[in-house]
Amino acid sequence: MNSLGIYVSVPFCRAKCSYCNFASGVSAVSAHAQYVSRVCEQIRRVRQAVSEAAIPGQVDSLYFGGGTPSTLSPALLGEIVQTLRQEFTVLPGAEFTIECAPGQLDDAALEAMVALGVNRISFGVQSLVDREAAATGRFHTRAVVLRDLERARAAGVGRLSIDLIAGMPHQTAASWQESLEVLAATGVDHASVYMLEIDQDSRLGRELLAGGARYSAPAVPSEELTADLYETAIAYLEGQGLRQYEISNFARRGSTSRHNLKYWRREPYLGFGLDAHSMVHTTGGSALRFQTSAELAEFLAGSSLQDVRRLTPAEELEEAWFLGLRLRQGVCWQDLAREFGRQRLELFAPLVQDLCALGLLAEADGVVSLTRQGVLLSNEVFARFLGVEDLDCQATLSL
Ligand code: SF4
Repeated sequence: MNSLGIYVSVPFCRAKCSYCNFASGVSAVSAHAQYVSRVCEQIRRVRQAVSEAAIPGQVDSLYFGGGTPSTLSPALLGEIVQTLRQEFTVLPGAEFTIECAPGQLDDAALEAMVALGVNRISFGVQSLVDREAAATGRFHTRAVVLRDLERARAAGVGRLSIDLIAGMPHQTAASWQESLEVLAATGVDHASVYMLEIDQDSRLGRELLAGGARYSAPAVPSEELTADLYETAIAYLEGQGLRQYEISNFARRGSTSRHNLKYWRREPYLGFGLDAHSMVHTTGGSALRFQTSAELAEFLAGSSLQDVRRLTPAEELEEAWFLGLRLRQGVCWQDLAREFGRQRLELFAPLVQDLCALGLLAEADGVVSLTRQGVLLSNEVFARFLGVEDLDCQATLSL
């Protein structure tokens, strides 16, 4: 059985960034203790809550995200880690990542994290150009980011990641190149690059959709430019030794995120805290997905796990396609045939052929992967993999 990954969501931030569409926000420090005690209760009760799940006892990755987990005091962070260690065996050498906001990590907190076993920090930087970071409500400057990276290294955290967003207000091709060059020069072993999401769930997204001028909305680059910036990032980072291994993720050799790979490889993970998702297997081997509430008040009131769902074999196969295609290494026909049977897999052959003809997928040596164009249109590609077996059933019935 695979080892387990554990995600803990800490939904508190010092301020809400204009582009943020996560379940996070600013809360009084007094809410932190109540939140942590609820998370710990959830950790202790998870086996009871999903009794049909075969949850591995050994953990090889911990990931504290959010939100800004470093807003919790070292004592509260320690309480969560201690509860996890009581309920699970955290393997020596487990990857332990915590997301931090630059400029919000004092020496005591950094020291405490290292003492708790943190060996990887992911910094939410988004832009290394000060004007762009400030326009979205980030508090840091480039100098602060560079200083924090050095402080983390000096404290003994060697594995460091930087997140950037393509499409930030005021961004231009030249300023984006500047961010990329500064990132590469820091020597971090991992980077994540996202394209700005424009939707109703963020203040900036709503403003853009409404055609308003707040939050520097008029200074947001066009979709075309944002796509170009993303493509520039791929080419530039690859040239700097940060190889793209997933749509949004880049790493130096040996530095891929063990935790995040579990999501795309369909390996078991548990999520605790607000709006956290889990995927484990039942004792019979089916995939089981469930999540926690995305409403803080509901979560604190002790709501039970939501949407506990045993996937059908057809859903598992669809997931194998669209999660596997996120990875640069692609999806191997033979591996899928071994897991799902050749007959069911063959139903997907015409779709793959179509998408290859459209230049969105490529196939070589029995492996299917997204093309450059397919990466840009990945959501549309993934949607085509939904319901393939149902369609085949309907076609058979109508014959
Ligand atoms: S982007 Fe990160 S730091 Fe900003 S509000 Fe969202 S979760 Fe918090």
